[in-house]
Amino acid sequence: MKEVADISTEHVKLDKGKFQVPDWLFEFHGHKCPYSVMGYRMGIAALRELGREKCHDHDMFVFSEMGVGHPQGCMQDGIQASTSATFGKGQMFKLFYGKVGATFFDPSKGAVRILFRNEFMDKLGTHEFFSFRKQGIEPSQVPANVAQGVIDLVLNAAEEALFKIERVPDFKFKPAQSSFNKAKCEACGEYVFERYLRVKDGRLECLKCSGHTQDETTLYLPF
Ligand SMILES: [Zn+2]
Ligand SMILES: [Zn+2]
Repeated sequence: MKEVADISTEHVKLDKGKFQVPDWLFEFHGHKCPYSVMGYRMGIAALRELGREKCHDHDMFVFSEMGVGHPQGCMQDGIQASTSATFGKGQMFKLFYGKVGATFFDPSKGAVRILFRNEFMDKLGTHEFFSFRKQGIEPSQVPANVAQGVIDLVLNAAEEALFKIERVPDFKFKPAQSSFNKAKCEACGEYVFERYLRVKDGRLECLKCSGHTQDETTLYLPF
């Protein structure tokens, strides 16, 4: 494996060949871990593949294949940090496939799927950092030099060693129509946006008061 990142793009800040991430990534994420850095790099790779900058508004969507109960979920914070396609702006969706991949979609540029390569996952997993993690020690409690060591492994890797990148032709996604329309639930009096109002006994009620279950657990399944 090459020791020096060999990617050259205006999106990537390189210092003597080493990929750099901003300090605020860890401030935002809460601890220093390899997966937040891996996600940051994945987002940068996606922006380059799609030929675009990070998004200011709602012009890019991310479909994360990650689930719950595995530590790679930290990558999703890195992805949000480098692309600004955020959960809050309605641009990050989780598919719960339990795979460490994500599809990045820009309606004007198409879609690209990026997968964390098996080989690098195996290599990373042998680092001392994970022997601490497997003992139940949280990332912020792992000795700083160990955490920095595993982060450096990710920063120094060549992008092609980290990721498999493939175009996804004919990818389609229509985001939910944004609406400011709302009404007060006729049972609890709390405001509800119209998409979530239900009719019960002729009254407009919120999901909770009407006894309806949430029907938007899966908005979109691309594969
Ligand atoms: Zn983390
Ligand atoms: Zn209600």
